[in-house]
Amino acid sequence: MASIAFIGLGNMGGPMAANLVKAGHKVVAFDLVAASRDQAKADGAAIAESTVAAVKGAEVVVTMLPAGRHVLSVWNEVVPAMAKGALIIDCSTIDVESAKQSHALASKHGVGSVDAPVSGGTGGAKGATLTFMCGGEEKAFAAARPVLENMGKKIVHCGGAGAGQAAKICNNMILGISMIAVSEAFALAEKLGLSHQALFDVASTSSGQCWSLTSYCPVPGPVPTSPANNDYKPGFAAALMVKDLTLAQDAATAAGAATPLGKHAQEIYKAFDAAGNGGVDFSGIIRHVRGLSGK
Ligand code: NAD
Repeated sequence: MASIAFIGLGNMGGPMAANLVKAGHKVVAFDLVAASRDQAKADGAAIAESTVAAVKGAEVVVTMLPAGRHVLSVWNEVVPAMAKGALIIDCSTIDVESAKQSHALASKHGVGSVDAPVSGGTGGAKGATLTFMCGGEEKAFAAARPVLENMGKKIVHCGGAGAGQAAKICNNMILGISMIAVSEAFALAEKLGLSHQALFDVASTSSGQCWSLTSYCPVPGPVPTSPANNDYKPGFAAALMVKDLTLAQDAATAAGAATPLGKHAQEIYKAFDAAGNGGVDFSGIIRHVRGLSGK
C-alpha cells in the first residue's frame, strides 16, 4: 500500500480520497476549506497543515482542483518538495496547455507525472467507478494505474503529456452537442404530438441512439435514473458543461480546428448558465431549448 497525499477535497476529491483510504492506503489530505478537511478526517485520512506538509514523504500525490491556474499554483508549491522518483497525478479537468506546463515542471524536478481527468461525476467518485483518461509517459502511467484502480473502473492511456485532457474535452464536446440534439428532438416531438416514450422507443433502437438519449434522457420517464426524473438536480451541473465546452473551444482555437457545433453548444449552455441555471443538471438544457420556440 502506498503513502498518498491528496490535495483538493471537494465534491469529487473528497469521495476519491475516501476510496483510497478504503483501499488501505495511508492518505494525508489537504484542502483550503475546513469543512472538507473535517470530512476527509472523518473518512479516515490524516490532515496536513498545508499543501507542502501533505506531500512530505508521499510516494504519490493526487490533485483534484477547479482549474488550470489552481493546478499550476499547487504543483509549483509541492513538486519541488517531493522526493525524486515520486509520482504526481492531476485528476482535475484543465486546459491542455496548463497540463503540459505541469508535466514539464514535474520532469524538471525528476518527478513522474500523469494528467488523469475523469468522467463519471460525483456518483462515479463515490462508487469508485470513474473513467480516467490519462496522459504521460508509459512508466508514469504504469505507476499511476494501480492507484487509479482504487477510484475508478476504466483507466485509459491516451498518449503523452496532456493527452488525457485532450480526450476529456473532445468527449465532453460530443456530450454537450448530443444533449442539445436529443433535447431538440423531444421539443419537436412535443409540438408534433408524439409522446416521449414513442420517440424514445424508436430512437433508442435506431440511428439516433446515443448516451444522452439512452442513459441520460432529458425528459422524465423513459430512463428512470436520469436527472430529468429528479427536477434536474445534478448529476453534472450546467456550469461544468460551460467550463468543458469553453476548454474545448480554447483548444480548438489554439490548434486551428473548426468546431462550429461545439461553438454553438458553448453559446447555448452559456445562455442557460447566465439565466441562473449553472447549478441545474446539464440535461435541463431541454427547458432552454423549449423556451427558444417562444411559447
Ligand atoms: P469543487 O469545487 O467541489 O472542489 C475543488 C476543491 O479544491 C475545493 O474543495 C477547493 O477548496 C479546493 N482547492 C482549491 N484551491 C486549492 C488549493 N490551493 N489548495 C488546496 N485545495 C484547493 O470541484 P469538484 O466538483 O470536486 O471538481 C474538481 C475537478 O473535477 C474540476 O476540475 C472539475 O471540472 C472536474 N470534474 C468535476 C465533475 C463533477 O461532476 N463535479 C465531473 C468530472 C470532472
